[in-house]
Amino acid sequence: MKPSLVNDKVVWLPSSDGQFSIKSAWDEWRTHGSRVVWAKILWFKFHIPRISTVVWFAIHNRLNTLDRLVVFGTSNPSICCLCGVGPEDRNHLFFKCPFSYRVWNVMQDMCNLIVPYLDWIDLVDWLTRTIKGKYLAATISKLVFTCSVYCIWTERNCRIFKGSKSTEVAMQAKIRSLVRNRILSISSFKEEVTNAWFMVKWSLPNSILKSGQG
Ligand SMILES: [Zn+2]
Repeated sequence: MKPSLVNDKVVWLPSSDGQFSIKSAWDEWRTHGSRVVWAKILWFKFHIPRISTVVWFAIHNRLNTLDRLVVFGTSNPSICCLCGVGPEDRNHLFFKCPFSYRVWNVMQDMCNLIVPYLDWIDLVDWLTRTIKGKYLAATISKLVFTCSVYCIWTERNCRIFKGSKSTEVAMQAKIRSLVRNRILSISSFKEEVTNAWFMVKWSLPNSILKSGQG
């Protein structure tokens, strides 16, 4: 075989133009995957596409954590850059790592949830069974989960590739900001008994409610 004179090119097969897009990833999953229960905490009505996509990759264990890169022979065994102690794999990173656990713990309080200390798969299963509905409480809880995974993954990437570090408090503030800004863009939440607690906790205006006024 003669060597190719054309440079190798990365092609995203599910898309007709070979370019990755969130829509094509979603279509690929919807076409070939079975309808799984965890879809409800990922692709809910007010999800943030770029953030849910990262969690989708985490659920399929396709994020390039160091344990996977070692298997592929592209990395040496390494420890988690968030705590400097544990192994960098999905279970540890989300949320058994002491750093990410402390972030996650505070964010649970913001949802009035007490989440058991579980491995990733069991955690996703528990959240799927526990957080139900389209009300404000469920929407905030789903956003907190997805945004927490996203922020921990981006923090990990910043530390490895940019050498920059955020504190736990800064991480919590970033997650709160992502969630709150998304909620503030909505004006159709129905009246529900748990709304009052969440509206105080997140300093939300009545304008997010269907019948609310600025
Ligand atoms: Zn760690």
